Amino acid sequence: MAPRKLAAGNWKMNGTLASLAEVDRLLADHPQPGCDLLICPPATLIHAMAAKGIATGGQDCHANASGAHTGDIAAAQLRDAGASHVILGHSERRTDHGETDDQVRAKAIAAHEAGLVAVICLGETEAQRDADQTLDVIAGQLAASVPDCATAANTVVAYEPVWAIGTGRTPTNDQIAEVHALMRDRLAARFADGADVSLLYGGSVKPGNAAEIFAIPHVDGALVGGASLKAGDFGPIVAALAASGG
Ligand code: PEP
Repeated sequence: MAPRKLAAGNWKMNGTLASLAEVDRLLADHPQPGCDLLICPPATLIHAMAAKGIATGGQDCHANASGAHTGDIAAAQLRDAGASHVILGHSERRTDHGETDDQVRAKAIAAHEAGLVAVICLGETEAQRDADQTLDVIAGQLAASVPDCATAANTVVAYEPVWAIGTGRTPTNDQIAEVHALMRDRLAARFADGADVSLLYGGSVKPGNAAEIFAIPHVDGALVGGASLKAGDFGPIVAALAASGG
């Protein structure tokens, strides 16, 4: 099995019920997208989004199955609302909420136990890249954030340089290739089906740069923030992924 191609949208804290019209448009424009499609809206929209027949994900879950955790959401609750996936360890969670690799790993285990695919995010800060620490940082996050129960069926790994998220800046193709090759090597060395885990790039993916990014070896798709909010932006990214070779 080859890694599945996945175009994933992260709506972050954006969107209301009215925003679902963008999903209608996306599905109308791409009835057979030619790759897997996933949208991770705010928790308030998961149920309605999933009812449209598109794969839907949460943006975080708690490591515990239930309990006194006001404001948090359990993996099984996401699943109950219709989610099939959950983003974990996004840099905005790591930064805004101080999430550690250990916590991300615990959440991924909870996600797997609830039957969700964990989309685990890794990424270096600009200071770490400038200090030539990128590969060490990514290798460390990968080792510590991805649990031993990961398989190609229940886990997706996203490389999202912190400095590229929402900034309009992207790494060079060679920089993306270097990190994706490292992630592929480490996953293949650790897991029986590690060669088949889908690897996403995320960070300022737009219609204008998507095809070039999808041509990079071991880039199996994208995790898209801002450009996933509008069908007119996300649609061309989906089409570029479907058209990409490999
Ligand atoms: C993200 O939030 O995961 C992301 C990649 O955002 P953007 O595409 O807006 O940079």
